[in-house]
Amino acid sequence: MVSILKMNFEEKRKRLVESLKDRGILSKPEVIKAMLTVQRHKFVPRDAESSAYIDSPLSIGLGQTISAPHMNAMMCEFLELKEGEKVLEIGTGSGYHAALCAELVAPGNSENPGHVFTIERHEELVNSAKESLRETGYEGKVTVIYGDGTLGYPKEAPYDKILVTAASPSKVPLPLRDQLKEGGILCIPAGSKSFGQNLYIIKKLGEDFKSKKVTGVRFVPLIGKYGFES
Ligand code: SAM
Repeated sequence: MVSILKMNFEEKRKRLVESLKDRGILSKPEVIKAMLTVQRHKFVPRDAESSAYIDSPLSIGLGQTISAPHMNAMMCEFLELKEGEKVLEIGTGSGYHAALCAELVAPGNSENPGHVFTIERHEELVNSAKESLRETGYEGKVTVIYGDGTLGYPKEAPYDKILVTAASPSKVPLPLRDQLKEGGILCIPAGSKSFGQNLYIIKKLGEDFKSKKVTGVRFVPLIGKYGFES
């Protein structure tokens, strides 16, 4: 068996994906393919590259993190992303999760490519995410927007799927109600600012929202008009 210290990034990525499969976190073939394809090490700071394929969140500066791979995998599985869909992500961070979503809605040879719109409140992260997405070939499939994601992005609404990657005080922030398509899915961590958060999968059915609590989580807070105060 090759020692992890001697593995290249691709080998480490495969090893991580195998362990997520073994733990029952990854099962959908298209999500497995996306996790095997997107180069997570290109989305983390240089000095953290060697840790990119450990199942752990990593600092990306400004007190923010790139989520642990099992959380990315879990959210992608629950969102049931399909080719051609329009996705809104709130909390671009490194841009990695947006790239995973793009791999699912707009795979390489798609004749019906979807698109990912992602919003980030820190301008420095907007710039570094754009750079990583350009370097990894996702520039044309992901639009990174600088602003308060709690307002959503009405210009491109409605969305098939909405993904929130910071903890919200409410399960369905008001502006997102209208920006999700009928039958659409919202995946969102909600609860208190630091502890006692849960991940919810919420389906829009007419005027109602059917919500399912998935698991306890710990995310950085969603800061904005319909989020927490900074
Ligand atoms: N999805 C990211 C990735 O793949 O690296 C990880 C996101 S990190 C856990 C949460 C991000 O949400 C942070 O970058 C934070 O600045 C951002 N954020 C928090 N409140 C926000 C808001 N109202 N609008 C946009 N971004 C926000």
